[in-house]
Amino acid sequence: MRTHIEGGWVVAFNGKGHEVYEAGSVVFEDDRIVHAGPAYSGPTDTRIAAHGKLVSPGFINTHVHTAGNAGDYLLLDMARNDYRTSNYMSFAAPLRGKLTPPSSQAVAAIRAFVFLHALKNGTTTIIDVGGLRGDWDGYARLVDELGVRVYGSPPFRDRDTFMDARGRLTYDEDVAIGRERLQEAIGFVKRFDKTAGGRLRGMLNAAQVETCTERLLREGRDAARELDVPIHTHAGGNLIEFQRIMGEYRTTPIRFLADIGFLDDRTLIGHGVFRAGHPWTGHPFGDDIRVMAERGATLGHCPYKYAKMAMTLQSFQRYLDAGVTISLGTDTFPLDIVSELRWASILAKTTDGNYQAGQHRDVFNAATLGGCRFIRRDDLGRLTPGAKADILLIDLDHIGSGMYVDPIKALVDAASGRDVRTVIVDGTVLVDDGRLTRVDEAEIYAKAREATRHSWSNVPGWRWDGAGVEQIIPPAFPLHRAH
Ligand SMILES: [Zn+2]
Repeated sequence: MRTHIEGGWVVAFNGKGHEVYEAGSVVFEDDRIVHAGPAYSGPTDTRIAAHGKLVSPGFINTHVHTAGNAGDYLLLDMARNDYRTSNYMSFAAPLRGKLTPPSSQAVAAIRAFVFLHALKNGTTTIIDVGGLRGDWDGYARLVDELGVRVYGSPPFRDRDTFMDARGRLTYDEDVAIGRERLQEAIGFVKRFDKTAGGRLRGMLNAAQVETCTERLLREGRDAARELDVPIHTHAGGNLIEFQRIMGEYRTTPIRFLADIGFLDDRTLIGHGVFRAGHPWTGHPFGDDIRVMAERGATLGHCPYKYAKMAMTLQSFQRYLDAGVTISLGTDTFPLDIVSELRWASILAKTTDGNYQAGQHRDVFNAATLGGCRFIRRDDLGRLTPGAKADILLIDLDHIGSGMYVDPIKALVDAASGRDVRTVIVDGTVLVDDGRLTRVDEAEIYAKAREATRHSWSNVPGWRWDGAGVEQIIPPAFPLHRAH
């Protein structure tokens, strides 16, 4: 069946870069685009009106965690003053043996919520860099049923993090568990890669550079090459990690990964903020940016989350100019990839003190083409004949938006994920006029909320100090609940 998306601002790919056509057309047949650009007059079976809308390639979100938002919620208001640059470790490390895994229903509810929340906000390719464990058949079934496009597999590490009774972070090494988890990930890829009509793809996730031993990182890299899939790890994500790697290997996390052969054009590095030369590291020599560029690794830049922790990449423009492939990710809630475009652009400007940094075209490229290199896909992140029909219709013409000359600038400067009206993945309309077509939204949300509240209520049971969520994150104003 041929579908004609008619009359919008079409972002078409010319083989080298994006171009925009006013009153353009996109035509797709089944899962592939057959036309993108000027108005189309050939025969089609059905049409979607797109006047006043940006017809954009779907965004590739390279940092999604399919986990409960308990952790991320705490992170957004992190209050601990002794782990202020430690990212997830300040809140997510439990007392040893005290954290009970959520039920399989809770896992499924949260996964469904994460996938659909990302989708509704404009993500058409979800790079799952690690979430809740267990029921991998259920995970694959969910991807199949929901229609989303996902790269993922169970994350592995052989050093788990815990707090001791006094709230000090400790690492427990267990090489056998790391191996077992890597085997589980390999099994997942072998079993599920290219299932769900080709929408579920395998990639490996070495959890964090400092929570994996060098041996496990090497074994993970070898396995990824053997399986011919990409590999991700978090590196340069916080100062504790940076200092631990410096202490263990006498080199920066990025340089260390390059030295052990982990970094190449199939590698995605989550964050890469703390590197040689970043002023907070106190390590003013070496050139990690050049190393990343030379090895062809992709950076998963999550500007909003880092800004909330008073950190930022130094800088988007500097990495870009050095030739680093930059992609965008959301990491924490909301998984609003449209807003990340604005954050990436604005933070690039303020970080460099240069309003010509972080240009609209560069952040748009990061959210589309930037995420394609490490997954080796030249049929995603672009609208061109032969590419996958992963398409967004984003409403720019409404009173809550604004007046504009250039729709890409309007998108970056003023839009958010809630302006995404239509989402098409693999030629199937999954969001139509702002509503999910395959599921009951309210039911998905209610189930995920229940699972999340349950996990929040369990926090005092595993926290080193027994604190509850409202003690860890005091409300903005005195809050009188209805009970
Ligand atoms: Zn992450």
